[in-house]
Amino acid sequence: MARGYLVAGNWKMNGSAASNAALLEGLVRGVSECPAIDVLVCPPSVYLDSARRHLSASPIALGGQNLSDQPQQGAFTGEIDASMLRDVGCGYVLVGHSERRTLYGEDDACVARKYLQAQAGGLIPVLCIGETLAERESEQTEAVLARQLDAVIAAAGVRSFINAVIAYEPVWAIGTGRTASVEQAQAAHAFIRGVIAKNDVKISNSVRLLYGGSVKADNAASLFSCEDVDGGLIGGASLKAPEFLAICAAAQVLAAAQDA
Ligand code: PEP
Repeated sequence: MARGYLVAGNWKMNGSAASNAALLEGLVRGVSECPAIDVLVCPPSVYLDSARRHLSASPIALGGQNLSDQPQQGAFTGEIDASMLRDVGCGYVLVGHSERRTLYGEDDACVARKYLQAQAGGLIPVLCIGETLAERESEQTEAVLARQLDAVIAAAGVRSFINAVIAYEPVWAIGTGRTASVEQAQAAHAFIRGVIAKNDVKISNSVRLLYGGSVKADNAASLFSCEDVDGGLIGGASLKAPEFLAICAAAQVLAAAQDA
């Protein structure tokens, strides 16, 4: 099934008004070379509104990096809800990034609440899942992925994946320069699709699965060529327009071949 490619940039806590403007200008110019793929950028939340203005004439979508798990607005100092993200032009939001899970104590239940709030607010959640190095080395990878997915399926139902994206991000590959091998990435993605297939085969075939973890211009094509990899979630390499655009170009080549 042709799911198309999505290349998403997670800027994390990086940038300034000036550096963002330069980065976005570069992306807007370059993305016209990649008409067969979807491209998403997730800047820090304080810059979303100005990013929206830079992207107004561009097909690049905008996403938040995080949202509140609360079902209503109110006395939640420092939090941002889905409707606010929508208000500043977001169509997507990252949910359950490993940095949120490990540094900010977001457990599976919290991630599931955020996922629900994202969809309730009209956003497409990019659900991030993945194992630590210790979990991989103790052969827990599949158990961890199944547990993280099942928490969301229990809370939101498998049909929620019609309006969601899943990013497989092995924690040991994020920001480390150590990328999963093509075989490791494909095996994990096939396993994820299999967990969803146990609930609904059609949805498992249509949900987009991104790979994240030290994707660079020189490894994107081989990772994206895997049967069950439908693009990437890119951290460090999304902060420089030429590098991010080279990753988009790798996806564009594969997407164009699929369309031919
Ligand atoms: C990420 O932040 O989701 C990520 C994959 O980072 P990096 O590409 O830098 O490993």
